[in-house]
Amino acid sequence: MLLYYPQFCMASAGATIILMIMYFMKRNYSMRSNRIFFVMLVDNLLASLVNITTFYVISFPYKYQSWIRYACNEVYLFLYNIMAVLFLLYVDSKTKIRSIKKLVSFFATIIMVYDGLLIFTTHYTKLLLYFDDKLEYHHGPLMISLYVTAFIAVSSADVLILAKRKMFNFYQVFTINLFAIGVFIAVIFQVLHPKYVISNFVVAMVLFFLYTAFENQAYYLHGDTPCYNRRAFIKTIDWYKKREEKYLLAIIKIGDFENIKHSLGRIGVDDLAERIAEMISRRFGKSAYYVDINGFVVIEDDPGKAFELVRNIKECFVNSINLEFDEEIIPVNIEPVITIVKVNGKNIEGYEMCEIVQKADDNLTVGTEIIVRDADELIKPVRREKEILRLVDSAIKEKGFQVFYQPIYDVKAGSFTCAEALVRLHDDELGFVSPEEFIPISEKNGRIIDIGDYVFRNVCSFIKNNNITSIGVHYIEINLSPEQCKKVELADQLIQIAIEYGVDFRQINLEITETAQMENYGMVSMNEIITMLHNKGITFSLDDFGSGFAAIDYLIKLPVDIVKIDKGILWQAMKDEKSMTILKNTIRMIKEVGKKIVVEGIETKEMADILIEHGCDYLQGYLYSKPVPESEYLEFLKKNNSNCSLQI
Ligand code: C2E
Ligand code: CA
Ligand code: CA
Repeated sequence: MLLYYPQFCMASAGATIILMIMYFMKRNYSMRSNRIFFVMLVDNLLASLVNITTFYVISFPYKYQSWIRYACNEVYLFLYNIMAVLFLLYVDSKTKIRSIKKLVSFFATIIMVYDGLLIFTTHYTKLLLYFDDKLEYHHGPLMISLYVTAFIAVSSADVLILAKRKMFNFYQVFTINLFAIGVFIAVIFQVLHPKYVISNFVVAMVLFFLYTAFENQAYYLHGDTPCYNRRAFIKTIDWYKKREEKYLLAIIKIGDFENIKHSLGRIGVDDLAERIAEMISRRFGKSAYYVDINGFVVIEDDPGKAFELVRNIKECFVNSINLEFDEEIIPVNIEPVITIVKVNGKNIEGYEMCEIVQKADDNLTVGTEIIVRDADELIKPVRREKEILRLVDSAIKEKGFQVFYQPIYDVKAGSFTCAEALVRLHDDELGFVSPEEFIPISEKNGRIIDIGDYVFRNVCSFIKNNNITSIGVHYIEINLSPEQCKKVELADQLIQIAIEYGVDFRQINLEITETAQMENYGMVSMNEIITMLHNKGITFSLDDFGSGFAAIDYLIKLPVDIVKIDKGILWQAMKDEKSMTILKNTIRMIKEVGKKIVVEGIETKEMADILIEHGCDYLQGYLYSKPVPESEYLEFLKKNNSNCSLQI
């Protein structure tokens, strides 16, 4: 008769096999944690099977030789105890506390070596177990130490998860703790009912919990498709980086995306993206990724296979994709735009590659020739932008910007009655960074409001502290970014600041620029802002006139006082007759609608003479002065405004 009931072990083996099948049926994104999870499954299956064998051997000891009896017990003990160590490593791979990673591995190794030595020498030492004269099984004096090492491993895992509990949801933290609680209950139960060996079964149940709490691979898949998502992509690229491997990346974009988006709508585009994700993952398996709303990627390990890669991708898109709309099937033809990038893995991080994918827009695979782009080149502007943004952030925090002033010559007064405030950014390493570079980056990343606020305050304080009227300056021009003008609150904020510094509103002129993105909504808010500030006495200039395409529209719709003709227009006019005719007529037109004119970019006396002859009111340019720091500007005024006439 059996001394132990093997049913629980059988159930454990069965449950573990089911779990293994589930694990394999679902697509896995291979990571250290799920590799450890898989080893835990194998371990529990083997432990359950060996345990069943051990029951037979212990129950019918006379049938088996001594070494078989010991071997079965030893192997079982090892498999069972190693589970605690695997669990610790598993939790460590989830919590990812880098600073203690080595310590945890060392700790796990020590426990494993201690357990292993003790277990596999026990047939000599009898320290863990032995068989008496009647061949009955007994625990040895050090058996308890195995419980202790297992307890230490499991409770260390608990400490790790509790330290990082914010990274996990309640269910996940509960599941990890369940492991310790479950094993503890199993041990107590075992002592009370030695015949029912439930420990493997308890482990199998806890593995089920772990599977549902952590090994949920949907986390790495795009929606309901088998295609890997952005998270998986970042991990993969980082993995290539670690291994310093070279590979190819095919970035696939939907051609004419804006139009397709317009005609399908948001939901239609999502459907389409899912269908494409499905399609490419069917063709390229685990190498296919959905990274961005319009950015699919296929990774090819062999850098020499660019041509094949492109051909295979194009084949995927030969047939139209049928989308379902209100039970109607609409076929959509997609022209894939493919960018092939060769990557030297060790240079590029996962999140950087996402930006390369997002920015890629060139179709270089037309015909048979394929132009392969180099990731090292593509990443340069991305890194530069990051660097500039860091610089801008620290300048915002530490008030590291400077405001320079470029004097503007007032033709009628013969002196410099106004100036343009221009922001400056300097870094010890990068040197002088042009606003042409950092302003657009700041606009794109939501930093322009802070910069605008800084410049406005700085100018207000300059106006107040230097009593500019006394040195012949009527007003200072301050650039407003179109991003600032999208917020109607801007007007109130500026009024508040001007009041705070005690500045006369008439001493401020705001420069606004036309932009292509300024839709109707933007125009309405801009109009509102201008009207509110105008009522207070602040004047407005329309900057960069002639450089864009909505200029005339702005001139008609917005109540601006001054128009600033773009320096590009002037420079072009100095080169050819036609452009000169356009410039002259532009000046005439602006004068006829009653606006004052500033022309910027005056670099030569010849330019100044022509513009004065045609009736421009103000001239701004290097001929008079470059933008200079506050103190130099004051010096300049002292020298040039004292007699209120300029000699050049
Ligand atoms: P912008 O508003 O058109 O400013 C005029 C730019 O032309 C300035 O460049 C100025 O230095 C330059 N400039 C003036 N006269 C001459 C000339 O004779 N020759 C040449 N080669 N250049 C001349 P800067 O300071 O580099 O500013 C570039 C742009 O950055 C500005 O163009 C403006 O759009 C933006 N910006 C500068 N400061 C601010 C600011 O405080 N806020 C905002 N939103 N944008 C700013
Ligand atoms: Ca300007
Ligand atoms: Ca300008």
